[in-house]
Amino acid sequence: MIPPIASRFVAGETQAEALEHARQLRDREIHTICNVLGEHHHERRAVSADVDRYRQLCRDIGRTDLEACVSVKPTQIGLGIDETTFMENLGAIVGTARDMGVFVWIDMEDRTTTDATLNAFERFVTEYPEMGVCIQANLQRTEDDLRRLVELPGTVRLVKGAYDEPKNVAYTDRSAVNEQYRTHLKYLFSETSTGAVAVGSHDPQMIDRAIELHDAYGTPFEIQMLMGVREDAQAALAAEHDVYQYVPYGKRWASYFFRRVVERRENLTFALRAILER
Ligand code: FAD
Repeated sequence: MIPPIASRFVAGETQAEALEHARQLRDREIHTICNVLGEHHHERRAVSADVDRYRQLCRDIGRTDLEACVSVKPTQIGLGIDETTFMENLGAIVGTARDMGVFVWIDMEDRTTTDATLNAFERFVTEYPEMGVCIQANLQRTEDDLRRLVELPGTVRLVKGAYDEPKNVAYTDRSAVNEQYRTHLKYLFSETSTGAVAVGSHDPQMIDRAIELHDAYGTPFEIQMLMGVREDAQAALAAEHDVYQYVPYGKRWASYFFRRVVERRENLTFALRAILER
């Protein structure tokens, strides 16, 4: 069992807890993106176990009436071994998702994984358009990547980027990343030929801009936020827009929880207060 202090950001160690959380979100008209915690697997056994977990998750989501989807990390399902293993495993997950009518997101990891991730997305989304891929505004290559992606089926989730990248490939200044985010958001809303746009941000300014762009271009969109972050805003936005909460679960919750705690002073204060109040 995860300690109560971590349960703000992580649904639990088991799939059953994640789906129970999804049911509670549904009562608040918020949809769920389920993520089995895990990344950087270099051993085939760990990779296979998580691939099996995702396939079982797709089967079980498909049997419910939940508006839930899954989000996978490439290095969790084989990219830490080689690109062929990643492709095969993604194909297996997408095959099960397709049978069950479940949407599949691919998270984006650091810059060394971008090409393989986009190649895999392109390979599968042309057969199964109920897929999406995450793109990071902090990378300089993103303008070119988006030109390629808007021609494909599927959906793009635009985020600012969670990885520290070197200056020769990335915008490292916060205001420059924000400017890029705005530019890419406008491009997506104006150019996306098929799917919707997913706004993966807690930033009220970016969300307001997305709503303006939706009003201007009519492109469907959804707002995606993490479990435990701005949950009041999630509920308020869900009254008028499609809101998805990214819900991580699994035994590897400790490093994810630690990342959430250190990324913002408020989260650190919350964690310290919870410890002191015990
Ligand atoms: P920030 O730039 O961190 O903050 C901007 C403003 O938002 C703040 O000034 C504040 O007003 C508000 N805000 C932000 N956080 C909080 C908070 N905790 N409480 C209150 N207000 C807050 N990154 C990747 O690299 N790859 C991925 O695949 C990926 N997937 C993601 C999926 C989802 C659903 C989300 C939400 C994020 C994902 N990210 C991913 C992370 C992303 O790249 C950013 O690192 C992260 O979202 C922080 O940027 P931000 O736009 O939310 O806001």
